[in-house]
Amino acid sequence: MKLWYPYKQMKNTEPLPLMQSGQGTKMHLADGRTLIDGISSWWAVIHGYNHPVINEALIRQINSFSHVMLGGITHNPAMALAEKLCEITPAGLNHVFFSDSGSVGVEVALKMALQYWKNEGFTGKHKIISLKNGYHGDTFKAMEVSDDSDFSNAFADVLNRGFFLDTPAGGFNAAPATVQQDADKLEELLRNHSSEIACFILEPVVQCAGGFRIYSPLYLKAARELCDKYNVLLIFDEVATGFGRTGKMFAAEHAGISPDIMIIGKAMTAGYIGHAATLSNTRVFNGFLGDGYSKALMHGPTFMGNPLACTVALTSISVIEQENYLSKIKRIEAIIREQFADINSPAITEKRIVGAIGAIEVQHEDMMAGFKAFAMDKGVWLRPIGKVVYLMPAYIISEEELLKVISVIKEWISKIR
Ligand SMILES: *Cc1c(COP(=O)(O)O)cnc(C)c1O
Repeated sequence: MKLWYPYKQMKNTEPLPLMQSGQGTKMHLADGRTLIDGISSWWAVIHGYNHPVINEALIRQINSFSHVMLGGITHNPAMALAEKLCEITPAGLNHVFFSDSGSVGVEVALKMALQYWKNEGFTGKHKIISLKNGYHGDTFKAMEVSDDSDFSNAFADVLNRGFFLDTPAGGFNAAPATVQQDADKLEELLRNHSSEIACFILEPVVQCAGGFRIYSPLYLKAARELCDKYNVLLIFDEVATGFGRTGKMFAAEHAGISPDIMIIGKAMTAGYIGHAATLSNTRVFNGFLGDGYSKALMHGPTFMGNPLACTVALTSISVIEQENYLSKIKRIEAIIREQFADINSPAITEKRIVGAIGAIEVQHEDMMAGFKAFAMDKGVWLRPIGKVVYLMPAYIISEEELLKVISVIKEWISKIR
């Protein structure tokens, strides 16, 4: 096979479904089948496929110019998007660095944090804290701060690991005392090692690719206070959670706090073109001011700030705002809650819901074997991660379509023996 696919044993050459066109949540396949996309193509296609308003804005930009380097020259789409992102993200995030994917956005965030301390005259703050079950991307430093998994196991010997803490216990509504126990573990680590630690990176509220684990925003508040107390930067990876997915525009809002650095990607460009942004507060930004290159952030992806990507993002944000997507997401959450309440089986270990994310964990990965093909036969596109089956639909999904997607999960689980 000429085309090398992601996360796939290429020895297996069974033919893949062939996408021919898309409309709304529907994926039309070459063999005539139509699938409802239950996971918005790796959580990016939030407006569905082939959105007329975004298409039109993109075509307008194509007919003006599709690209110009951001080195030494600027343009309105990049400036306007930077402005808009600072307006809609948590207070204090006032500076925006663009890149072409979430993983690279994470690399940029970690470079910012590590170099910040060097620029400020601290030596030895080289280590990073992250959470077990976290996922931050497939590039090397991103793998280092992600938990061991099938994504990174081949490189276990090469990775220069930092510190890992357990996923905070107790779910979204964890009791304050439970959160305090996890915060105490963070404080203990910081008390003993803060002179070696540059930053703490985590996916706020929901760890997505690592298995859809949801935890309390109170932990984020505690992390904010402790990072300030021990002089460590706080980084939120909102590549998956950003743009409404958890019911707030950004998951940090559940905690009412701002990180020092935040990464967004995936849904930012609604599935049209890969792009990401790493935002920082002014404290971090000012740490890079000086004479000459030695203190500057020496990073510059070729396609950073691509005008087509910026135009898509700006148009997407205006659709989110004008069509009040947060209320659509509330409705999706209510339907998931209501429907999941009826899905019961001894096979289920936990049901987890926040915003437009619903996940069901079963006892063994084997229990999900064959599920993808089963769902396709029923006209639904879902792809479990290990023993977790989840939905993360486009926000424009209709109630009927959403009920259909959930019914397929329900039917499968009822058959697990
Ligand atoms: C997907 C993801 C990434 C990586 O983004 P890519 O665009 O695939 O490089 C990083 N962090 C989180 C939380 C993600 O979900």
